[in-house]
Amino acid sequence: MLGLMQDWPLTLDKILDHARTWHGEREIVTRQVEGPIVRTTYAQVHERAKRLSNALLALGINPGDRVATLGWNTARHLETWYGIIGIGAVCHTLNPRLFVEQICYIVNHAADRVILTDTSFLPMLLEQRGNMQTVEHLIVLTDADHMDDAALPGALCFESLLEESSPDCVWGGFEENTAAGLCYTSGTTGNPKGVLYSHRTNFLHTLTSMQVDMLALSGRETVLPVVPMCHANAWGLTYSCPAAGAKMVLPGPKLDGESLYELIESEGVTFAAAVPTVWQGLLQHMRGIGAKFSTLKRVAAGGSAVPEGLIRTLRDDYGVTLTHAWGMTETSPLGTESSPSAAVAALDVETQLKYRAKQGRPPVTIQLKLEDDEGRELPHDGVTFGRLKVKGAYVIGEYFRGDGGKILDDDNFFDTGDVATIEPMGYMQITDRSKDVIKSGGEWISSVEVENIAAGHPKALMAAVIGVAHPKWDERPLLLVRLRDGETATPAEFRQFLDGKIARWWMPDEILFVDDIPLGATGKIDKKLIRERYKDYSLPDGATPAAKG
Ligand code: ADP
Repeated sequence: MLGLMQDWPLTLDKILDHARTWHGEREIVTRQVEGPIVRTTYAQVHERAKRLSNALLALGINPGDRVATLGWNTARHLETWYGIIGIGAVCHTLNPRLFVEQICYIVNHAADRVILTDTSFLPMLLEQRGNMQTVEHLIVLTDADHMDDAALPGALCFESLLEESSPDCVWGGFEENTAAGLCYTSGTTGNPKGVLYSHRTNFLHTLTSMQVDMLALSGRETVLPVVPMCHANAWGLTYSCPAAGAKMVLPGPKLDGESLYELIESEGVTFAAAVPTVWQGLLQHMRGIGAKFSTLKRVAAGGSAVPEGLIRTLRDDYGVTLTHAWGMTETSPLGTESSPSAAVAALDVETQLKYRAKQGRPPVTIQLKLEDDEGRELPHDGVTFGRLKVKGAYVIGEYFRGDGGKILDDDNFFDTGDVATIEPMGYMQITDRSKDVIKSGGEWISSVEVENIAAGHPKALMAAVIGVAHPKWDERPLLLVRLRDGETATPAEFRQFLDGKIARWWMPDEILFVDDIPLGATGKIDKKLIRERYKDYSLPDGATPAAKG
């Protein structure tokens, strides 16, 4: 027997319709690519997104066609999302930080028909235009005054297109499983693969992410999504902010500590989301000028492990609560959050911090399990490492165009490629990515755990640990530390700091102080590049592992 309730397809156009009607005057503030701070509202964004829909229809865009964006977090970018998905086309967010060859590969693989781009990326597009076979139109996200026709011959001007187009357009009317968004993983192994979200999955992700134990969004918040819209849907904030009626503050291209701090203070930001390295950069700037936050209360961080020291500093020195989140492009992305459960909330604050530093517990829409290599389920004892597998309301079923073949196990769980533990109160902790874990003498060393502790040293700005080949032990850990500006330190200081906090045999064989710890396209430490840099590295005992095999 079927239920007798209304059939109300969960399509994302309803989110901006809601924001226009019930939060129409709520502001969206942008630091524009052209420089100034500009203000708009959900009502205006809604109207302009409809104009864009008409412009795309006039260009011949049909339901299911891929329309790409290459943009910073701005109100114009937000308008493009809703303009594209409202008419059943697919919004394909390209990550400008990828290598150009990867961007071209992705555009061709997705068969994008249009690219909407910020002016910042015109030189790259001009150079690569001939390599993007399916692209018929380029639309520059700027006004006529800033259009430089020579920069990209034949390109269309976003603001002129909007002026010429009608604001009357019917959105929606398709089924909720219609594709809405396309986002490629950054391809740390092999070619990037496409994750194709549907209206329904993004809608369910939106409802989940707004919950109190997730991002806890309300209409009273002023939200700064530093996490780019091309990085797994800006963790869903492009949908959840209008759904909640929260004010949005969009940083455009300026993600340095000084610019972010200025926006947080001038716009009264209460909640912000970014990868841990952004928080480190922001705090470094604030320490330099002795600044404090006047309105910021909460931040979410994830994408890579958040060092416990960062959570402590934000709490003790700045009065800000950091919630640690885990997820991936394939999980839309929010999979777990480290909010305190009832049992953890009853513990003393110092012990609570240990739980906040873990990746956390899943919401009702996500199922997790841990398995060994033979597919046997592992205990939730907080010690046993295993493969983390996930299933849920907004988890990938297969990659775009079937890349990678069958990716679910017989119970329809997806292998995340992460290695994790789950402790008895349900807190999951990522111990590594399976390809980063250090295999020493047949046992595993968590590179993430060592680097997180090292990053907590008061003189450290950032730390990275990789496995270096070793003739006897297979691999041994090498710790790279980037010190805070003006600091000097010795390896012995760091060894002493790690001593007692990690197992003896996890102690890095060598500690090097470096000027640069490279970050990848999604702001995470680029272990692949570091491994490449140190592939012939000789460990201090004088052995040359590469030579000795
Ligand atoms: P990419 O791999 O393209 O950088 P994703 O955002 O999809 O982009 O990466 C997902 C991966 O990032 C996860 O599988 C996990 O390895 C890592 N990750 C995400 N959040 C965390 C976290 N809080 N702690 C540790 N690792 C994390």
